Amino acid sequence: MSYNVAIDGPAGAGKSTIAKAVAKKLNLIYVDTGAMYRAMALFMLRSGVDLQDTDKIIEKCKEADITIRYEDGVQVVFLNGENVNAFLRTEEVGNGASAISPLPEVRRKLVELQHKLAAESDCIMDGRDIGTCVLPNAQTKIYLTASSEVRAKRRYDELTAKGEKCDLRKIQADIEERDYRDMHREISPLKQAEDAVLVDTSDMSVDEVIEKIISLCMKR
Ligand code: C5P
Repeated sequence: MSYNVAIDGPAGAGKSTIAKAVAKKLNLIYVDTGAMYRAMALFMLRSGVDLQDTDKIIEKCKEADITIRYEDGVQVVFLNGENVNAFLRTEEVGNGASAISPLPEVRRKLVELQHKLAAESDCIMDGRDIGTCVLPNAQTKIYLTASSEVRAKRRYDELTAKGEKCDLRKIQADIEERDYRDMHREISPLKQAEDAVLVDTSDMSVDEVIEKIISLCMKR
């Protein structure tokens, strides 16, 4: 049986940075499930689908073939055969992912892919519903969070470092709206699994968080 680590938490909590580093140290595959929802959102945006039009999204999502490959340990997302990694990390696509992720048809398709990856390899998987729904039997579960101020500032720094112009207050408002939607949807809402360990990173450095997660993985 493969060893699975589940990391859930709100937007900008640092899940991907931490999961990538832990994956490297513990020789696990890093599965970024948010990227799968983002790829689906990108497909809808490119197709000109109104993200409020549920029927259209349900119909259209059948045409999106999303697959994952690993190149030098890096997760590459393919959308209908095209490597779309470079298009996934924008605010528009992130908000779009949050808008379409409540739909069971979208989730079913992506969760199937997640199950397959977790069964095939020792992995650390991050998302919103990994410990609660996707991998309820994961051997290690972590709920990673931080205050919305801290998370907004991190995202702001990340975007400005890339040369993107952005407004800190707007980022915080978007993050709070996204958290609300993710936590209050009917299917697979974001919440801490009963057996997950809560790690609040508001006052922790990246290295401290990595060390903490590795020690939790070692305890299993
Ligand atoms: O983590 P990331 O910001 O890339 O996720 C984008 C959006 O995808 C989230 O706001 C959430 O709505 C959705 N998502 C989800 N379930 C997951 C991962 C992401 O619903 N396991």
